[in-house]
Amino acid sequence: MASTQPQQTTLAPPRGSLYVNVATLLLITAMLAGCDRPRTYENQFLAFGTLVEITIHGAERELAEMAFEVARRDFAHMHAAWHAWQPSALTRVNTAIAAGESIDVDADVLPLIERAKSLSRRSRGLFNPAIGRLVELWGFHTDDYTGRRPPSDARIRALIDQNPSMDDLTLEGSQLSSTNPNVQLDFGAYAKGYGIGLVAEHLRAMGIENLIVNAGGDLRAIGAHGDRPWRIGIRHPREQGVFASVETDGDESVFTSGDYERYFEFKDTRYHHILDPRSGYPARHTTSVTVIHTNPGVADAAATALFVAGPSHWPAVAQAMGVRDVMLIDDQGRAHLTASMAARVEFEIDLPPKAVVHDRS
Ligand code: ADP
Ligand code: MG
Repeated sequence: MASTQPQQTTLAPPRGSLYVNVATLLLITAMLAGCDRPRTYENQFLAFGTLVEITIHGAERELAEMAFEVARRDFAHMHAAWHAWQPSALTRVNTAIAAGESIDVDADVLPLIERAKSLSRRSRGLFNPAIGRLVELWGFHTDDYTGRRPPSDARIRALIDQNPSMDDLTLEGSQLSSTNPNVQLDFGAYAKGYGIGLVAEHLRAMGIENLIVNAGGDLRAIGAHGDRPWRIGIRHPREQGVFASVETDGDESVFTSGDYERYFEFKDTRYHHILDPRSGYPARHTTSVTVIHTNPGVADAAATALFVAGPSHWPAVAQAMGVRDVMLIDDQGRAHLTASMAARVEFEIDLPPKAVVHDRS
């Protein structure tokens, strides 16, 4: 999970003349409009079961307020259409797959399936939104974890043996069919990224140039905070507060998957919500993965896939998914980074972690 900290005092000076020019332009515009300087507006609401925060810089107040309303409506619409467990356009698809019937997929859901199919393949199946039954067996589709214990090996094995995969799905136009009735779609690892992308696009089309759409710490940041870049904090996987921070440039999305988001403990073992589709169990040896990418959907799917890949195998999967900026924190507290990520990340903790930099990325 990350948090935005546009006011942080450790900001680096602006890079490049473009920043200065844009900042100067904004300043002149603001002065002409009779304000002291461009203002930042923030708005928060709940969606996708998490806190969404929209930050807008340098726009008129009326436009910012309209944008907040648009974002709120967009999120509510997506939440209703993509819900994997309450009746929705997506559950209709799942019902048809289970019944062995083909279905005309709703236009809201179709792009999710198409893009997730290709991302799943590129992730070598480690990002696998076809494992909805497994997520349900573990109970990670609900929020109450009191008294939880892991399901039996036999029940996990039974679902793994069904081998649900996005490759089982065929799309002809909007007509979907599955060769495997055990596929159950759950876009918990992708819908937030795809959705954040749509909302940010919508706000940009309204004329907003500097904005952050942040859902529970996963975000897309566009433009800058005046003459300073947006600075994004990455949450510490085991303590309160910020572990590291990065500045975004232009239009970038920062997504983190962590084992601290949804989990229960049973007999001193933590069982969290990021499942290894090969074993059917929570992925081991990783506590969090942060990915920065221009496409928020790719960043979201990749953070999940690299978490599953783990501290030894993530570089190959990152490369296959076209992801360059990665930081993985393993269960020993070590940070594994691509060279490009190492060049931009700043550790914000007293004792910086042991860092392992992989230059082939
Ligand atoms: P978060 O939702 O906390 O940001 P993720 O993006 O990693 O975290 O998504 C985790 C969710 O995705 C789980 O709650 C579950 O619904 C689903 N999921 C779990 N494991 C996988 C996986 N290997 N591939 C695709 N989806 C998964
Ligand atoms: Mg994800």
